Amino acid sequence: MTPKKSRQEDAEPSGPGSAKTAAGARRVLGVVGALKAARITAKPGQVAYPGFIYNGGPVITAPLVYASFWGALWSGSGHQTAAQRLSQFTQDLLNSNFMNVLSQYGVGTGKGSGRFGKASFVGTVPAQLSDSGIHNVIQSSINAGVIPEPPKNNTSEALIIFLDENTEVKDPTLGVVMCEPSGDTAFGYHNTFTTAAGNPFYYAVIPSLNDACIKNSCGTGSGCSIQLTETQEQRRTQVASHEFAEMVTDPNPPTGWYDQSDPNSGECGDICNGEADTITAGTNVWTVQRTYSKYDDQQTSGANYCLSQTASPEPRLAGAPAGVATQG
Ligand SMILES: [Zn+2]
Repeated sequence: MTPKKSRQEDAEPSGPGSAKTAAGARRVLGVVGALKAARITAKPGQVAYPGFIYNGGPVITAPLVYASFWGALWSGSGHQTAAQRLSQFTQDLLNSNFMNVLSQYGVGTGKGSGRFGKASFVGTVPAQLSDSGIHNVIQSSINAGVIPEPPKNNTSEALIIFLDENTEVKDPTLGVVMCEPSGDTAFGYHNTFTTAAGNPFYYAVIPSLNDACIKNSCGTGSGCSIQLTETQEQRRTQVASHEFAEMVTDPNPPTGWYDQSDPNSGECGDICNGEADTITAGTNVWTVQRTYSKYDDQQTSGANYCLSQTASPEPRLAGAPAGVATQG
């Protein structure tokens, strides 16, 4: 998830699949936290994150990504434009050099190897959603033919859900409280559930991230992983890129690419949480978050391990599943 704070400042983050480590520190999975992650220094002759490994579970090797816009506000004209822009962002992200960082993990084969499915709109959703409430909305949308049923042994399809300003997430037992009046713990998260047809469904949830949401989470400090100086769209795309990178590399946390010794959270987005950068696609410049690159960590002995893009696809790491281009 996107935790709100850095590893130092966020004393007790929690999240889906969170668990106490042997050392007693709480692990967070899939959540974008409020504070920026701090860079760490590698031990001599080592990488910065030697514990970041592939744990043998599913990876989205041929990304086919859908977007879904939840809440009644998305039907307004300003929101329709915003939704169109976010769909374009998702398409551009899959076509960008951002994908060249993910190829090392067996996610696609670099720029242009992923495909955007389509956008859907779900106007009627509860104003306050738990994670299981989100499963219910996805399942009923599958039943209605609005959201596609994923394939068996899904290694391709994933959904990014964008919530409107009237839709909150409150699931304190999972550590996911987003855009509530108080007690927020996260700016985004990703998770999975098994559909009624028995297939694994992978999804990320991006709340509205309006000013009120930022202020009650981490205020105006520079340590916040997203900033009030950013536009709402920039906040959404930054968090969406964090969750996208994690969802495709670790769709069933923590069985994919994950560092169980990282006290903050350990997914590829968390290690670089809050490090904003931009990607360019045609005339569009989008704000994204940098992603942990094990390959660059290895190549630079820990000096440089957070990247938003590389000029060419990074070579697949030893033991990684084989990435393929999505057909069509
Ligand atoms: Zn995360």
